[in-house]
Amino acid sequence: MSDAFADLVGQDDAVETLRRAAASAAAVLRRPAEAGRPAPAGEPTGAGRPAPAGERAEAAGGGAGVDPAAGMTHAWIFTGPPGSGRSVAARAFAAALQCERGTGCGVCQGCHTTLAGTHADVRLVVPEGLSISVGEMRALVLRAASTPSGGRWQVVIIEDADRLTEAAGNALLKAVEEPPPRTVFLLCAPSTHPDDVSVTIRSRCRVVPLRQPAADAVADVLVHRDGVAPDVARWAAAAAQGHVGRARRLARDPEARKRRDAVLAVPRRLTGVGAAFDAASALIEAAEAEAEASVAETDAAERAALQTALGAGGTGRGAAGAMRGAAGQIKDLEKRQKSRATRAQRDALDRALVDLAGFYRDALTAALGAPVAPVHTDTAELAEAGGRKWDAEGALRRLEAVLECRAAIEANVKPRIAVEAMMLALWKG
Ligand SMILES: [Zn+2]
Repeated sequence: MSDAFADLVGQDDAVETLRRAAASAAAVLRRPAEAGRPAPAGEPTGAGRPAPAGERAEAAGGGAGVDPAAGMTHAWIFTGPPGSGRSVAARAFAAALQCERGTGCGVCQGCHTTLAGTHADVRLVVPEGLSISVGEMRALVLRAASTPSGGRWQVVIIEDADRLTEAAGNALLKAVEEPPPRTVFLLCAPSTHPDDVSVTIRSRCRVVPLRQPAADAVADVLVHRDGVAPDVARWAAAAAQGHVGRARRLARDPEARKRRDAVLAVPRRLTGVGAAFDAASALIEAAEAEAEASVAETDAAERAALQTALGAGGTGRGAAGAMRGAAGQIKDLEKRQKSRATRAQRDALDRALVDLAGFYRDALTAALGAPVAPVHTDTAELAEAGGRKWDAEGALRRLEAVLECRAAIEANVKPRIAVEAMMLALWKG
């Protein structure tokens, strides 16, 4: 059976919460007078936490219907580690809100267009650079206040809400504080830590925590949805450490596998100071190559589209003004593309560091004799040998060196400097 939540892997609690909320929202739509009522905000949801009053009443009522006091929550935050499916969850919930059956059936026009990204009342904001600008946010907030053309909800999904600038965050906060009656904001962020989402925005939102999906659940999806062979799926799911998209790429893209192999060859190559610096260069360059590959196609398509649009201007009167405008637009596009490339490089480097951390984690668990499955089955023997040589303490120091490098880059240390320091630490132990 089709289902809007089908792509959300291993998140049963969150799906349950969202389905109930979508049903409440559909009930609100049937009572137009109440659609504008503010809902209780700031209630965390999920495993082990108390449900908001409306949900408790609903559960206790045994299908007696939705407690009208639950109203509608106009702002949500989806949190969880990378690859856990924050944006997948937000999109699925958006589909359920637009679903003609009110359930997220996955097949009706509302579900279908939302999931395909073409629904007129669903806006997706994906920051292309390292942050979302205030201009972008103001325009968005303005459009979000309009009446939904489909008669249901105006949904705004903000991916990477942790990348809002302070000014953009303030523009969003105003909208979240006094939401238009038919507008729903869905924010995605790694966590509700104040570094990711401001305390004031967080206090206005209901939180949907996602967890890192189990490797079994990821492998299962690769086999049944993507037609990957079971042994490849199991390997990819373990190697991707709970990152669904990464597991899928590893299972299907030989280039992604090659880049991972190069990263996992690093520990073997660290034979001296010179080798450590070489390894740092190789890692940075591999991340650059991966980033380049990931943005090249979009960059070229955007350039072509802009040239076509500008080419339609023609010559004659006003052409000089048009040319000046064109130069500005090209400059804008180049700026946007450069900032996207920077971000793609950081993401690629971070993935490489996560792979490397997995190797030293394997060495550590081997040294401790811990009965857990290795992250990287294909380098498990090497990691075991490392664990014997370094002992648990040495393996732990190396694992920490990788994690410190991630933290340093996150804190804006120049990647090359952070990676070189890490490689030296890995070599020295
Ligand atoms: Zn539907």
